[in-house]
Amino acid sequence: MIGLISATAAGAAARDRLAAAWPDRTRVYEGPVADAVRAAFASCEQLVCFLATGAVVRLVAPLLAGKAADPGVVCVDEGGRFAVSLLGGHGGGANDLAREVAGVLGAEPVVTTATDAVGLAGLDTLGLPVEGDVAAVSRALLDGEAVALRAEVAWPLPPLPVADEGAYTVRLTDRLVEPGEGEAVLRPPTLVVGVGASKGAPVEEVLALVEGALREAGLSAASLAELATVDAKAEEPGIVEAARRLGVPLVTYGAEELARIDVPHPSDAPLAAVGTPSVAEAAALVRGGELLVPKRKSERADGGPARATCAVVRRPGRGRLAVVGLGPGARDLLTPRAEAELRRTSVLVGLDQYVDQIRDLLRPGTRILESGLGAEEERARTAVEEARRGRAVALIGSGDAGVYAMASPALAEASDDIDVVGVPGVTAALAAGAVLGAPLGHDHVSISLSDLHTPWEVIERRVRAAAEADLVVTFYNPRSRGRDWQLPKALAILAGHRAPTTPVGVVRNASRPDESSRLTTLAALDPATVDMMTVVTVGNTATREVAGRMVTPRGYRWQETPERQEIQKAQEARETRETRETQEEAR
Ligand code: SAH
Repeated sequence: MIGLISATAAGAAARDRLAAAWPDRTRVYEGPVADAVRAAFASCEQLVCFLATGAVVRLVAPLLAGKAADPGVVCVDEGGRFAVSLLGGHGGGANDLAREVAGVLGAEPVVTTATDAVGLAGLDTLGLPVEGDVAAVSRALLDGEAVALRAEVAWPLPPLPVADEGAYTVRLTDRLVEPGEGEAVLRPPTLVVGVGASKGAPVEEVLALVEGALREAGLSAASLAELATVDAKAEEPGIVEAARRLGVPLVTYGAEELARIDVPHPSDAPLAAVGTPSVAEAAALVRGGELLVPKRKSERADGGPARATCAVVRRPGRGRLAVVGLGPGARDLLTPRAEAELRRTSVLVGLDQYVDQIRDLLRPGTRILESGLGAEEERARTAVEEARRGRAVALIGSGDAGVYAMASPALAEASDDIDVVGVPGVTAALAAGAVLGAPLGHDHVSISLSDLHTPWEVIERRVRAAAEADLVVTFYNPRSRGRDWQLPKALAILAGHRAPTTPVGVVRNASRPDESSRLTTLAALDPATVDMMTVVTVGNTATREVAGRMVTPRGYRWQETPERQEIQKAQEARETRETRETQEEAR
C-alpha cells in the first residue's frame, strides 16, 4: 500500500489525482502531517509526501530503522513539478515510484542513486537476489572499472557493462559459493524442488528435508524458483507452509501428467495413494531440466517412518524475446512499457534507422545488432538465436512491430524454449488518423500495396473486397520509386464504389519532425505526392470533410445523403447486371 500525505490545498489536489489514478494501491492519511507520516511509515510499503523534502527528512528521521525495513519515500513539491526519490531508492522501490508518480502527475522524476542516475541497472534492481560485495561492484561498474561476468547458467540478464576479465566480478550461479572480495553473486531462479508428503507431515520435517537436500548438493536456497507437487497435495499444510517460509510459490500438477514422466526411482506407495509412481522426482522434472538430487526421504529424530520426499532439478535458463513497437516516431508516442523493455534488454535487434530512434534509451553495455533495409529474415533469425542462447533480446519495429513488420517472421522461427513478450505500438494508420481527424470512426481495414512478398492479384482482390464492403481503407507501403502504378490502380477500384468527392487523407511522416498532411478527394489525389513515408486513408461513402478534418460517422444508421443514394442505386444496378450476366452464361 502507498500512503499519501499532504498539507496544503495544492498538495491535496495533486494527492487526490494520484489517489484517483491508483485507487487500489493508495491510502490517504489525513490529519496533522507529523501523525500522518508516522502512521503511514509504520504500515505502508511506500509513501508519497506532497511536502518539502526538508519537512519530510525531519519527520522520518526518528523513524528510520534500516535499508531493508524502511518504506520507500517520494516527495512531490508544491508546484507538482518534481517527484523526488528521497528514501529507499532501490530496496524501497522509491526510484521506480518516483518515475510512476511523475508519469501520473506530469512531473519530472528526480533520482539521485548513482546507478540509476547514469542509466546503469543497479545490481539490486535486476529482479534477482544478490549477495556479496554489492556496493563495491556497483561502484566499480559506475566508475567504469573492469568488471567480469562469470555466468555459470544462462539467464536473460539486463545489460551490464562487463568485460571478460576484471578485478571485480559479477557471478551468476545457483551454487553455494562464498563471495570473494570484489565479488557480487546473482541468484537466478533456476532450481525446482519436487516434494511429496504423507498426510499430516509436519512443516519442520518438510523444510528440513528441502533445505538439507539443497545444502548437501551445494545449492543455494536463494535460487529456488518453486516447490512442486501433485494436485492431491495442493492443500497439504506441511508443504504449503514450507513453500511460504521459503518464499516461493507452490506449483501442482495432475497425477496423470506426473505418471507420464520418466523418473529414476518410481515406487508403488504413491501410485496407490495419489495415482502416480513418482511425486517428488516427477513434479520436479515435469517442465524439463537436469535432476541434481534424486529422490530422498526425510529423517525423523524419533526414528519413525519418513513422511516426506524431495528431489531437486535445475531448469535451463529461458531466453526472452521482446517484440517491441516503437510507435510512429515521436518520443512521447513510445509507450512506457516499450521504454522499460528497451532498458532491460541486453541485445537489441533492428533496422538501423529505428535503432537511431531510441539509441539514447539503451543502457550502457547493450549489444546492438543493426542491419539495413531488406535483411528482415536475417534479423528475425538473429533475434531468435540470441534469445535461445538465454539472453534478453528486443526486436524492434516502427509503429506496431506486429503490423507489416518483424513479429511474424520472428515468431515463425521461434520455438517454445524461449519466452516471448509483445509490446504494442501506435501503428501508422492510427497516428495518421489522429492527424487527419476521425477517419477510422467506423469499420476500416489496412492494406499494404507492396507486392514484394504478396502477388498483386491477391492485393487487388482485397482492395476490391474492401471497396465492395464500403470499408475505410488505410494503404501502407503505398508507393515507391520502383512501384508507382499500384496506388492509382487501387484508388481506381475504390472509385468504382465511392463518389469522386470521397475524402482522402495523405499523411507523411506522422509524428516526426517533418510531418505533413493533406486532405483531398479520390478524384483530386495526385499519386506523385505519395511515397514510402506516407499512409493514404480513403474514406467510406459516409466519410465527410468537416472544418478541414476527415470524419467518418460511427453510427450504423447513416444519414442518407443524395450522393449515397446515387451510389447505392449504381451499385444495385451493377449487381443486377452481373447477376443477369451470370445467369445468361449459365444458360
Ligand atoms: N509496423 C509499421 C508499418 C511498417 S510498413 C507500423 O505499424 O506503422 C511501412 C509503411 O508504414 C510505410 O511505407 C508507411 O506507409 C507506413 N508508415 C510507417 N510509419 C509512418 C509514419 N510515421 N507516417 C506515415 N506512414 C508511416
